[in-house]
Amino acid sequence: VDFLKGVVAMSGLPPDDRAEVCFAGRSNVGKSTLINALTGRKALARASNTPGRTQEINYFTLGKSHYLVDLPGYGYANAPLAVVRKWQALLKTYLSGRASLRRAFVLVDARHGIKPVDEEIMALLDRAAVPFQCVLTKTDKIGAGSRDTVLAQVRDRLAPHPAAYPELILTSSEKGEGLATLRATIAALGAE
Ligand code: GDP
Repeated sequence: VDFLKGVVAMSGLPPDDRAEVCFAGRSNVGKSTLINALTGRKALARASNTPGRTQEINYFTLGKSHYLVDLPGYGYANAPLAVVRKWQALLKTYLSGRASLRRAFVLVDARHGIKPVDEEIMALLDRAAVPFQCVLTKTDKIGAGSRDTVLAQVRDRLAPHPAAYPELILTSSEKGEGLATLRATIAALGAE
């Protein structure tokens, strides 16, 4: 995996000649940590973006056949409205205009389940007809009981979304849970 570039406008996207997957999630969901754990490199994805800063779509090359796309985190409590709007516009354009985008992974903190801001992204993915799969993060932070509760909540919330895959991927970057599954899922998408 190598960092390719940060993109702030559609005109900056690399040619769509590779299978592409993107990672979306609320700020602090553990997205950078997961991307780093997945790729086995430290400090590849930048640690949590600071709200208010220019929000970039970060492109990583994954082998010779894939791009891994790190979308800026959403749901900052104090993000200026102008920043939120700009980000929404870029995201909408990206999701609806990227032919090589095979799947979006929507990261959800296993402790919190699906929140209204996640629903917004999922609705956007539905409208753009981008298939998406929910990835639970930080599963090491919850016990078996809460795991069942959160799984039920997440399945319930995903059901009405036409673009959602029913299968969830449970991950812990800390313990390594689910990383092999996620890697294999991404690799299989290239074969389509
Ligand atoms: P981002 O804003 O989505 O990129 O989130 P980060 O990757 O920066 O993670 C936010 C916080 O959650 C950091 O303090 C991480 O150390 C912590 N974190 C991320 N993944 C895990 C995990 O799998 N288990 C635990 N226990 N903590 C995690």
